[in-house]
Amino acid sequence: MRNFQTALRGLVVLTGLSIAILPTPASALSLTDRVVLQSADPDPYAADPLGLVAHYGLTSSRGTAPDRFEVWVCAGVHGSLDLTPENVTGLLNSELPPYYSWLSEGRYALSFVPGGSVRANSQQGCLDSVSSRSTGGNHAAIVVSTLHVADLHVADAAGVLSQGGPGSSCWDDVASHWLWCDFYPENQRWVWMGWFTTVGVRWTPIGLSSIEDGIGSLDALDALDVIGTVAHEIGHTLSWPHSFTGTTMREDGTIDEYDNPMDVMSDGPTATYKDNRVTVSGRVLAGTHALNRYAAGWIQSDQVEFYPWDDLSLHAIGPVGSPGTQMVIMKWSTGVFESMGVRVQKSYDSLIQKEGVEIYRIDQSASECDNPYVDACWGSRRRTKPALSGKDDPVLHVRGLGEGVYWGESETDPDRYELNVIERYGDTFIIEIAPPRR
Ligand SMILES: [Zn+2]
Repeated sequence: MRNFQTALRGLVVLTGLSIAILPTPASALSLTDRVVLQSADPDPYAADPLGLVAHYGLTSSRGTAPDRFEVWVCAGVHGSLDLTPENVTGLLNSELPPYYSWLSEGRYALSFVPGGSVRANSQQGCLDSVSSRSTGGNHAAIVVSTLHVADLHVADAAGVLSQGGPGSSCWDDVASHWLWCDFYPENQRWVWMGWFTTVGVRWTPIGLSSIEDGIGSLDALDALDVIGTVAHEIGHTLSWPHSFTGTTMREDGTIDEYDNPMDVMSDGPTATYKDNRVTVSGRVLAGTHALNRYAAGWIQSDQVEFYPWDDLSLHAIGPVGSPGTQMVIMKWSTGVFESMGVRVQKSYDSLIQKEGVEIYRIDQSASECDNPYVDACWGSRRRTKPALSGKDDPVLHVRGLGEGVYWGESETDPDRYELNVIERYGDTFIIEIAPPRR
């Protein structure tokens, strides 16, 4: 029993940590950043009808077209091929297209088809092997790895490493601008779901899981954790960034980008699983905020209202699926604004911590990310900060009925605007924004 507890604790900790590693394939992202800077488009905001989202043509193209992922399983030399592309495809098709259909309001047609099985002894080996074996014609690949720790030459490690990115872009001669390259493997758009275990990975009725002999509950833990994480990585392939406060630090002194429990692209809500031996929790499916949905092409221009910068202003905002306004913008300058949307505890958002109007500061200034080639921090580098929240209260950026907040252009701005959530009708929240009292 002692061994069991140790194994469980180790897996939980390492799972949490390893999800944080490298959200985007660095080579693909820097290539895209560079080509966009050199493109014929001098204004990164020109493609967005509302002028809000940098390189909107790229951020919205994937989420508004059929998107078919081929499913590969890569086993290490020491691992087993007990997962098959067919059973992983079945799981993903049963879980993720309904979720993304809800989140996109039917605009995003995601699907999975079996690719094949390969063997390698490293992540790069797996990716190279899949890339060379793919027959093409699909928009991305998801590689489910069952590498054994013995294949990786690391001692005593178990956990999940996941990665995903939007891939590379191609020049369109006819339209004279950059587009995402259509098909894998040319576009190198992939999601990596890697389990590093001492035993292996297997299929269960509720999900993919790493297994430790005789520890049934770990199956459920990883099943919960994994499906939310696959949704997160697919979000990166749609150019979504993490949302994070920037004030939560890891033990090594770096910023923890997973401190927003409201967003599938951050910490996400967790669910607890219980059986008669153990209680565990893991990341579950949940939605994302309005600006990501707008950037993906899922909220239409006429569902967005702008604060008019004059007197008191009232706005009615509904959650995902509402026919009317889903986002209110308070725009300070080009690429810099507050985005407000509504979240309620229904459907895939049932487990979010708080209902109400969630507020994010979006800052696409080139100084907000560290790549010297970019003209704006866009796509998976779009700085998305939950307003107000921090470690002490991770959902302070969600204002419920009767709650308010003051803010200015900067945190030290003496001219403070006031927002209050004054009414709720069904799932629609009415907010009142007032200018500074001078
Ligand atoms: Zn990520």
